[in-house]
Amino acid sequence: MFSSNDWDISRDLGVHRVIEPAGSVPQSAWKLDNTPAAQFSETLVKVQALHIDSASFTQIVTICDHDTERIKKHIMDIVSQRGKMHNPVTGSGGVLIGTIHELDDVYGEAHGLSKGDTVVSLTSLSWLPLYLENINAIHLERSEIEVIGKAILFRSNPLAKLPEDLPFNVVVAALDVAGAPSRVARLVQSGQRITVLGAGGTAGLLTLCAIRQRLSSQGEIIAVEYRDQALQDIALLNVADVLVQGNATEAFELVKKVQDACEGREYLADLVINVVNVPNTEFSTILLTKPSGCILFFSMATSFTAAALGAEGVASHVEMQIGNGYMPDNGAVALQLLRDFPMLRTIFTRRFS
Ligand code: NAP
Repeated sequence: MFSSNDWDISRDLGVHRVIEPAGSVPQSAWKLDNTPAAQFSETLVKVQALHIDSASFTQIVTICDHDTERIKKHIMDIVSQRGKMHNPVTGSGGVLIGTIHELDDVYGEAHGLSKGDTVVSLTSLSWLPLYLENINAIHLERSEIEVIGKAILFRSNPLAKLPEDLPFNVVVAALDVAGAPSRVARLVQSGQRITVLGAGGTAGLLTLCAIRQRLSSQGEIIAVEYRDQALQDIALLNVADVLVQGNATEAFELVKKVQDACEGREYLADLVINVVNVPNTEFSTILLTKPSGCILFFSMATSFTAAALGAEGVASHVEMQIGNGYMPDNGAVALQLLRDFPMLRTIFTRRFS
């Protein structure tokens, strides 16, 4: 774990692996040295799979017309050009799953690791040097690819060991978006009305459960989702009070649908969580939030400019937060929700196993 007292901060962050632009941190760098051998202070992971961030995977699948051979080539090209799986269009990454092959002592002690442990990186793939020999399979339905490869972890990078009581793929999917339910659990206040956009996705379902747990039987949850199947899953989960089928890129139409669903009651929310995976949803998020309320933009497709100027245009002083991928619980909140809500686990098992 990274500490500001450490003797060489830039080495702990992995700056020595940056090829260009020199001096930047690995995440913002265009290109990393992905030589698959551990240097001093590095840990080498044999990578089995990549769970690619939904905004990134959706963009790649769309541009490759859902053709798996084109998707493979596109991903191999990104990794060979950048030395990491960092989508240049969305700027986002995802997480990797692998086993510890060579272990830095300091890192091993900080995280209680041994060689051979199976781990999930809680650091974005956009930060980690990655070398891919091959892509063996692409799972379009769960944003996952099976690979043969190696990656480097630096001392600053958080990670999680796989728990033994939950299915592997379910855990990986939950850990990719674990920052959302964890942050939400901190934001929710008793009695609030809370709206979730993209509520039927991976982060959305976890978030709905985190909200319900914090609100108990008080307050109100409005779930907005685009797709029939995902809406059915929200209904099965049975934690939301109001379900709305709508398109978050169509702000005025969506507001009307939410108003209608609330049947004349107040519809503006104290807190709105945006966990969609497509661009242009900032304005509908703002229009559905009380001007004195709060928004958590967890979506990687969020535009700072669209959010800031959208709020300005409607004279809203709404507080807007960016959703961190990392939270200090290291994914524990998300995994506990899978234990506490059996229907959530059932839906995740159907989707990801
Ligand atoms: P996901 O499972 O794909 O969920 C996104 C949901 O939004 C899906 O149910 C999707 O429906 C729905 N949606 C898409 N377009 C919509 C629209 N126009 N209106 C309403 N709903 C719409 O994605 P996820 O894995 O939960 O990730 C959610 C977001 O978090 C993504 O943007 C991802 O990039 C981001 N993320 C952020 C961090 C961070 O550190 N902040 C970390 C990881 C992920 P369809 O399935 O029908 O498209």
